[in-house]
Amino acid sequence: MIAESCSLLNAAALEDDDRVFEMSDYQGPIARWCSGCGDHSVLTAAQRLMTENQLKPETTVFVSGIGCSSRFPHYMKTYGFHGIHGRALPVATGVKLTRPDLDVFAVMGDGDCVSIGAGHWIHAIRYNVDMVALLLDNNIYGLTKKQTSPTTPQGYKSNTQPYGSYLPPMNPLETTLGVTNASFVAQTAEWVPGHLFATLKAAYEHRGFAFVRILQRCPHFTPDIYGEMVKHPDRIELLDHPEGIRAEGLEKIYTNQIRHDPADIHHARELAEDMSAIRLGLFFRDEARPRYEETRALPKYTARQKSDILNEEFERYAV
Ligand code: SF4
Repeated sequence: MIAESCSLLNAAALEDDDRVFEMSDYQGPIARWCSGCGDHSVLTAAQRLMTENQLKPETTVFVSGIGCSSRFPHYMKTYGFHGIHGRALPVATGVKLTRPDLDVFAVMGDGDCVSIGAGHWIHAIRYNVDMVALLLDNNIYGLTKKQTSPTTPQGYKSNTQPYGSYLPPMNPLETTLGVTNASFVAQTAEWVPGHLFATLKAAYEHRGFAFVRILQRCPHFTPDIYGEMVKHPDRIELLDHPEGIRAEGLEKIYTNQIRHDPADIHHARELAEDMSAIRLGLFFRDEARPRYEETRALPKYTARQKSDILNEEFERYAV
């Protein structure tokens, strides 16, 4: 479905290169998420990112799957595609490969990305196509009313596992860092707006597949999961490095910090694997990793050459 963006694409505006976009130029209808839902913060951060970078609404696409957060494209005045469950990444990949001039964002929930879309997730990391992938992780299926997701903490009660989740949760950072060709892996939290914005900015500026896990509150179904972390900043550890993600003034609130060079993938994996602390920051970045849109470079044929190749193939199978 194409989001309701077409109205803003009048011909006069498209011809005007001097357009200056305000935040309101990216804001769609009022979001229908629950009050206090972390999705609101991510939406605001994305609109702020677009304003700061003056992204053109007509060359920006938000692609989503199914879930609460997947309503995202409806609330952006850009192009959008609200797809089917778990399929945000293949659609986004297709968009980017076909139109490399577009800025592409994929927005997924934990059920969408880590469960039904897991196969696509793994291969999107490996293909390393230039886009921003946001995993809004609230540890539950919210849209379908509190069902256990792959990131639900072990023992956490839900409507599908009323005696508590049986399995230890999947760790999206560890998984992403384990895939060959991962090029950008970061974690942030929607209740730390300065860090959230700085992370989205770094992801947008990265050339390659930028994977960002955003810890997201769901006050309706999992109010207790991140509650303590919101109240007690000392429960969070910031990754600190000049090449990492930094937000002004944050170090005064989040005094618990650890030095980490985002070029060091081994240390990144160690930090991601250790779930005794919640860490925010840039775990890994390597812009030298090959991107699929470059490595797949197809031979360029003229129309005549294409016609000759086709005829040759037809001849082979002609009876
Ligand atoms: Fe947000 Fe949870 Fe409400 Fe869904 S159910 S809109 S994730 S607060």
